[in-house]
Amino acid sequence: MSTRTAVVTGASSGIGEATARELAKQGYHVYVGARRVDRLRELADEIGGTALELDVTSDESVRVFTDAIETANVLVNNAGGAKGLATVAEADLDDWRWMWETNVLGTLRMTKALLPKLIASGDGLIVTITSVAAFHAYDNGSGYTSAKHAQAVLHRTLRGELLGQPVRLTEIAPGAVETEFSLVRFGGDTDRAATVYQGIDPLVAQDIAEIVAFAASRPPHVNLDQIIVKPRDQADPGRFARRA
Ligand code: NAP
Repeated sequence: MSTRTAVVTGASSGIGEATARELAKQGYHVYVGARRVDRLRELADEIGGTALELDVTSDESVRVFTDAIETANVLVNNAGGAKGLATVAEADLDDWRWMWETNVLGTLRMTKALLPKLIASGDGLIVTITSVAAFHAYDNGSGYTSAKHAQAVLHRTLRGELLGQPVRLTEIAPGAVETEFSLVRFGGDTDRAATVYQGIDPLVAQDIAEIVAFAASRPPHVNLDQIIVKPRDQADPGRFARRA
């Protein structure tokens, strides 16, 4: 049997990096994509995968990346994130553009480009990492919550559109995971990023990676549609039990 292949976007850190490792452990040849290629190369060397530069906000970059991939069984739409926190009244349009381009249109570009190969594999799987922000609105978060809602609806729409095709669809919606996410959201401010996880036991990237790997390891007739996963210390996006 030929080796099954997986594609993980945003594999240069956090959830994507951990997911690439877990899928490689299951025997997948993993194509890892992101903009920071130095990090990707180290990871690909470690897991015996292939590192390829990828900017999901660029049509051309997605075309070159996906042209280099001959077959695909699994696509993990993971590249994404948040920029800033602001009321709608004070929304920063550039931050919104970044969030929509990366989370929404990035997922659309990657999915469109790889769909024919996923179908041709005879047993395809698309995992999209959305968020609890795809289920709730919260004050100062509309750029991210609206982008995650849109990304999730794109993914959920495919579940119906692909009925009858050999492609499964799994949405994983995490709560707080300690990665570089908050560092990116707050423009590299490490102190501010640390406050997000203060006094709670957040999820770690490995927790999500193991869920992706579990979904991928189910037999072809089993579709895990939606998985919402939060730290025990979190009830909703803004509702935490914090220790002093
Ligand atoms: P992270 O550590 O910041 O990782 C984000 C990844 O996305 C990086 O590898 C980054 O790589 C990549 N990326 C960003 N822009 C990209 C672009 N234009 N093209 C290609 N790759 C790009 O954060 P994370 O927590 O692992 O985030 C992964 C996903 O989980 C995101 O979709 C995020 O919204 C979602 N999520 C996170 C949390 C959380 O609390 N951490 C909760 C719910 C959902 P480069 O910068 O090298 O390109």
